[in-house]
Amino acid sequence: MTTFAIGVDLGGTNLRIAAIDSNGKVLEKTTTSTEVARGRDFVIDEMCAAIQSTTLKFRASGKFAGIGVGVPGIIEMQTGMVRESPNLPGWHDYPVRDEIERRLRTTVVLENDANAAALGEKWLGAGANVDDMCMLTLGTGVGGGIVLKGQVWHGMTGMAGELGHINVAPNGPPCNCGSCGCLEQLASATAIKRMAVEAIATGKAPELARAMNSEPEFSSKVVHQMAMQGDEGAREIFRKVGDALGVVLADLINIFNLPIYVIGGGVSSGWDAFAPAMMERIRKNSFVYRATAPAENARGVQGSHVPDDALPARRTTIITRALLGSDAGLIGAARLPMIMGQSAEPEAELKRA
Ligand SMILES: [Zn+2]
Repeated sequence: MTTFAIGVDLGGTNLRIAAIDSNGKVLEKTTTSTEVARGRDFVIDEMCAAIQSTTLKFRASGKFAGIGVGVPGIIEMQTGMVRESPNLPGWHDYPVRDEIERRLRTTVVLENDANAAALGEKWLGAGANVDDMCMLTLGTGVGGGIVLKGQVWHGMTGMAGELGHINVAPNGPPCNCGSCGCLEQLASATAIKRMAVEAIATGKAPELARAMNSEPEFSSKVVHQMAMQGDEGAREIFRKVGDALGVVLADLINIFNLPIYVIGGGVSSGWDAFAPAMMERIRKNSFVYRATAPAENARGVQGSHVPDDALPARRTTIITRALLGSDAGLIGAARLPMIMGQSAEPEAELKRA
């Protein structure tokens, strides 16, 4: 009999739910909009109803491991509370885990959404062949997750791995977290659009200005397309994105010396536009990288999937794109109840006590 779990990805815009078995097979996947404006009780009601109907469908066909929920914002593992979430206003200090457990009478594991995405890539994606990895998720904001020995590194309370708020420019643009010049302000979709607007204001980016006036949905995607078409203004923005990512990755490589660093999220589709500047910065800033870099001519190493035989006697640092796309968080969330109890961290026991 197979085991299955329910993964929930609760975003500020979409609520996604999937039933996934222990082999990683997605049995069912649904997406509905998150009506955050109607309040958290409404969202929790909708979520629980959707979880229940999905669970019932598969309950007879396998052993049910539980529910994993990925939420944006910083969470406290021990209490199962969302401590702060810009995307979920009104959820501050709300006992999300206990509320869902009370309504569904089953085990719920709460996790930060970017941590869940890192766990998903570790299980079935770019990190499937390694024990330890680190992931940056470049979307509206920038999320991060560190997975060590197959488990999310939580730190003391569950808030570790906020890699999007590593500082790159202390006097840079203000960040939602209260700091200035965080990676999130230099490498997110929001940041790319802001930098384009700034470039247009200087009068030195005429093609970007034309695009903004003609495209009703002027976004980071448009800036990416223009960079790939060779527009210098757009290319400069992606060089800045790459440089900021390189600064942070060089630091992470120096700190952790992990075998793989994965970049996911919507902005990662702009890999070809930002990767050259990113790799240049990493080579310049990180002596650990230079000592562990793959051979220059090794095709398909940086930026594509790691083949099974890519871990030779001489171990190298791999920096690569994520493989699971927008499903990473959902898959990782479903993985949470499956590996619960395998953690070496005491909080897993504490939480249940
Ligand atoms: Zn920040």
